[in-house]
Amino acid sequence: MLIEKEPYYKTIGREVEVFEHAFKNKLPLLLKGPTGTGKSRFVEFMAYSMKKPLITVACHEETSATDLLGRYIIKGTETVWKDGPLTKAVKDGAIIYLDEIAEARPDVIVAIHPLTDFRRSLYLDKLGSEVLAKEDFMFVASFNPGYQKGFKELKPSTRQRFVSMSFEYPSPKMEAEIIIAETGVEEGDAKKLVKIGTKIRNLTEMGLAETVSTRLLVDAGKLIHSGLSKRLAVEVAVVEPLTDDPDSLAALIELTSMMI
Ligand code: ADP
Repeated sequence: MLIEKEPYYKTIGREVEVFEHAFKNKLPLLLKGPTGTGKSRFVEFMAYSMKKPLITVACHEETSATDLLGRYIIKGTETVWKDGPLTKAVKDGAIIYLDEIAEARPDVIVAIHPLTDFRRSLYLDKLGSEVLAKEDFMFVASFNPGYQKGFKELKPSTRQRFVSMSFEYPSPKMEAEIIIAETGVEEGDAKKLVKIGTKIRNLTEMGLAETVSTRLLVDAGKLIHSGLSKRLAVEVAVVEPLTDDPDSLAALIELTSMMI
């Protein structure tokens, strides 16, 4: 809940300022951007800097309002109510981070609506009661806008409830810095990894569903730092996670092995 150790986060733009002002004004915040661009790390960093407890929920297709609000559970011979993570955050005045909110079931979106406007309240239909958010409660969510097919959308009526910020891949210089700080690889290797990332990101004609994120480059850096051969590290940490198509795999392995 309270983050004890300062998370390493490299500020990319004015996101810290926006977060602080959204918090001050009790406005919900939506972080948009592809996976692995530092959204979760940023929220952890902000919670740490502001000394606020953080509750993170990774949403998926099965995540329902019940999972977030709470449910009755059987304890011995009794049935007792157990608050879900969202209810807990609302009551405790914590920061809630719903990662990949668009993946969750539609009833989640319905449940959060009164929380994301002036009401700042949560209605627990199973208990027939309403909980008002504590002063420091903040609602943060992330969303991966699907430029390519296969990603779920968020309705405009939901989108317009949030102050929103886009997260992109960092500039090559910053990305190399992140890789070095996260993995301990030498600068030369970090720069090569960034070049590989940039190259693959520009191969739009390959039709990859998602392209190389900073996360994948960091993973490759970790493997290199621990002694795996550089080419193999790039193959297993960067290329294989991107595609299963044998032709694309072969092409990417050939391309990247020439770059490292
Ligand atoms: P997201 O939540 O956008 O999917 P994460 O926050 O999990 O992405 O970031 C994935 C990894 O990428 C992190 O574990 C970290 O190693 C690295 N990373 C990406 N951007 C940054 C950044 N700005 N500062 C520090 N690390 C970063």
